[in-house]
Amino acid sequence: MKNYKEIESAVIHGGIYGDKPTGSVNVPIFQTSTYEQIALGQNTGWEYSRTGNPTRAALEALIAELEKGVAGFAFGSGMAAITAVLSLFKSGDKIIISSNVYGGTFRVLDKVFNNFGLKYSIEDTTNISELEKKITSDVKAILIESPANPLLTITDISAISKIAKKHGILSIVDNTFMTPYLQRPIELGADIVIHSATKYLGGHSDLVAGLVVVNSKELADKIAFIQNATGGVLGPFDSFLLIRGIKTLSVRMDRHVSNAEKLAEYLNNNKSVKNVYYPGLKNVQGYDINKKQAKNGGAMISFELNENCDIKKFFSSLKLIALAESLGGVESLVCHPATMTHASIPYEIRQKIGITDGLIRLSVGIENISDLQNDLEQAIKESEK
Ligand SMILES: *Cc1c(COP(=O)(O)O)cnc(C)c1O
Repeated sequence: MKNYKEIESAVIHGGIYGDKPTGSVNVPIFQTSTYEQIALGQNTGWEYSRTGNPTRAALEALIAELEKGVAGFAFGSGMAAITAVLSLFKSGDKIIISSNVYGGTFRVLDKVFNNFGLKYSIEDTTNISELEKKITSDVKAILIESPANPLLTITDISAISKIAKKHGILSIVDNTFMTPYLQRPIELGADIVIHSATKYLGGHSDLVAGLVVVNSKELADKIAFIQNATGGVLGPFDSFLLIRGIKTLSVRMDRHVSNAEKLAEYLNNNKSVKNVYYPGLKNVQGYDINKKQAKNGGAMISFELNENCDIKKFFSSLKLIALAESLGGVESLVCHPATMTHASIPYEIRQKIGITDGLIRLSVGIENISDLQNDLEQAIKESEK
């Protein structure tokens, strides 16, 4: 165990560091499905790679340490991680989700778990006293994102955790947009943290992965059982890539955030922009709560152009920022939530929760800030012609 205190060191040295037998500073890729047993009834501690794999175990120990949890679990995607967590519940149980959750989270509840009798309700989790009235006896968990996708809505994580505890139900936080470098929900009282590690943790848009961290031995045993029983595990090579990505998390996030702060300010002062949603701007919903629970506003910005702007022309005029789903990679990406990430949410619900057809979501990368600002500027100008 290396001696360090801070997360900038933990991302590099945390979990299981290197490989003792060889001195390799990196955890080897144990590209194996099975392990030869020493004798009948006697194994090395490893039996079969769905149950456990040393490369995956190193990643799982690392994310547990970074999120200050009891145990971590790695899955083949963020959705596989969410599916494993939802598998904790049974028919008749109800999950409350915040109105701006990731489209795929809504979809798996609405189209898959619904078939098994697991119910859900979409609530405004920013209003704690109203929310508490919705906790009927069948509600077993509250699942939130803060900031939530795509309007960057802020929910008070410690307040949610408190009312969850009071009612004996679980608080679950999808921490994808912040990462443990900027926000640690378990320290704020949450029971379970979920990540789409495809995003900032991987950081290079070159893998799909999901992580779960829990705050108790009891939940750890349950998720370990579900992970092995349902089998949506992350492979050894992707586990290695993800460990590699996490090593640079702190330096990447610092640049992501400093670029985002400047672009949010720029968009906020731009006369062609109607609304800017960025938790680091003082005039937005939840600024104070976010400041209390996170290091800063993160690096996701959503905004709406004025009505006279042609949004199709805006997207086609971008010459650096790519039009793509996903977020959190080193390269800047834009997307159109209404037709891309949130298309699975029916039109009426989209309007109700503010995902208008003019909304643009920007994942700010780590390129040069002037290059990014110039690209936005010329594309906004083109969209006005
Ligand atoms: C992308 C994303 C997911 C789904 O993760 P995948 O890795 O794409 O399966 C879940 N939650 C949030 C907030 C996301 O951005």
